[in-house]
Amino acid sequence: MNLADRLQTATARLGGRPVLTLDGAELTYDALELMSARVAAMLRGRGIGVGDRVAIMLPNVPEFAVVYYGVLRVGAVVVPLDPLLRRREISSYVADCGPRLLIAWHAYAETAEAGTAASGTDCFFVVPEEFRRLLRGIAAEHEITPRAPGDTALIHYTSGTTGRAKGIELTHGNLDGNAATVARMHALGVDDVVLGALPLYHAFGLTCSLNATVHAGARLTLLPRFEAGRALEVIRRDGVTVFQGVPTMYIALLDHPGAGDMSLLRVCVSGGAALPLDVLREYETRLGCSIVEGYGLSETSAVAASNRGGPARRPGSIGYPVKGVEMKVVGDDGHEVPRGDIGEIVVRGPNVMKGYWNNPDATAEAIRGGWFHTGDLGRVDEDGFFFLVDRRRDVIIRGGYTVYPREVEEVLYEHPAVRQAAVIGVPHPELGEEIAAVVALRVPVEADDLRAFVKERVAAYKYPRHVSFVDELPVTATGKILKRAISLPETAVRGRA
Ligand code: AMP
Repeated sequence: MNLADRLQTATARLGGRPVLTLDGAELTYDALELMSARVAAMLRGRGIGVGDRVAIMLPNVPEFAVVYYGVLRVGAVVVPLDPLLRRREISSYVADCGPRLLIAWHAYAETAEAGTAASGTDCFFVVPEEFRRLLRGIAAEHEITPRAPGDTALIHYTSGTTGRAKGIELTHGNLDGNAATVARMHALGVDDVVLGALPLYHAFGLTCSLNATVHAGARLTLLPRFEAGRALEVIRRDGVTVFQGVPTMYIALLDHPGAGDMSLLRVCVSGGAALPLDVLREYETRLGCSIVEGYGLSETSAVAASNRGGPARRPGSIGYPVKGVEMKVVGDDGHEVPRGDIGEIVVRGPNVMKGYWNNPDATAEAIRGGWFHTGDLGRVDEDGFFFLVDRRRDVIIRGGYTVYPREVEEVLYEHPAVRQAAVIGVPHPELGEEIAAVVALRVPVEADDLRAFVKERVAAYKYPRHVSFVDELPVTATGKILKRAISLPETAVRGRA
């Protein structure tokens, strides 16, 4: 079973139907299958085959899928790279997994070349027209190299919000199984049009958008760069029925003057970061569609848990494990904590990665006793719904009291002037850490007012003594606020507006 078999099966069934669209141009299942078979021939011609790594650095364009399936077909391992990576990052990933080839979008040629300079990795640049011409001249190789479910299909380098990046090894079985689960859970079918707004190089977008679309025989309409106005246009133009996004996307859509009735969206899924409750509510009341929140990590092939529709949804919760996956909350001793208590969320199931590439220590640290330790703190309620409390390493200890930044951030989000909020610990001589909030605003407000707003709503040790304002908080492509990258201006630490 090779992941690429899914495309072949869908093609046999749906050949002439579109699988990918970008700005009016479309690629049918037949065309995607044929072009990827030609890429496979090109790779075989270069002596690339089973187990070789091929890095790809492409934005959300149809060529991503063409190259991705081409690499999989020959049994090689895809190493998707974030197109925004700089040279240093590229060279550290390339040194780590030693790809034979880096296939990059023409616009990233300079960084791709600089990043691979000191390695044995060749570069190939994709210029759309030239690429098509080149492929037309190559005879397609239709056979797909068979792979076992436990064979590695992809190495994904973590988004790196914390610590050193690690190569997450995901297998054909991991990715195929998770895509099938997602497709089934949302009842995706041939008439669905999925918005490809999440970056495809990330496990969330790859599994939920591309792999699940192909699995279901649906159509994916691509957005190379998320911008709210553009997204609204595409949703309306292409009759999008499924939108998977991160909270920052949902917030941007809400804030856009063009946002109107969106009830045609059959499924809206949010994941990757906490979805503020008031955003969820506003979607329902103002835009007429409901959002189901899910949860997962790249290490879990993307999706580990999710709310479902109707009564199987608990706003503010990440839902419960998806089919075939187990989740529990454990204490420091590794034992399950009593229901309702806070501990670390651990996951077991067919979606859990094989391990970190060439890093047995990190693998042994993460997967203990068969359970993958997520580093996320959470709790389970009486009905089995999981609630995320915070990232373990983001927790602030102020004078011996534990403060979960997310709880304070949620209160800040309740204030109508707040667009983005991050609560972090800043060093304090007596308390160890003090609570600080960094906020991007919708409309002006005084720092003192915000402080007072939070103070009224939480225990005294939790409210931010420092409130500072920025135009924009740094966020990753999957909507996570990069807390490490936040620097507090001097004036802000004193709490001036
Ligand atoms: P990544 O490895 O980039 O996929 O990021 C995984 C992390 O995203 C998880 O460990 C969580 O901290 C965070 N995350 C995913 N889904 C949610 C969610 N629904 N709410 C809050 N955080 C989330």
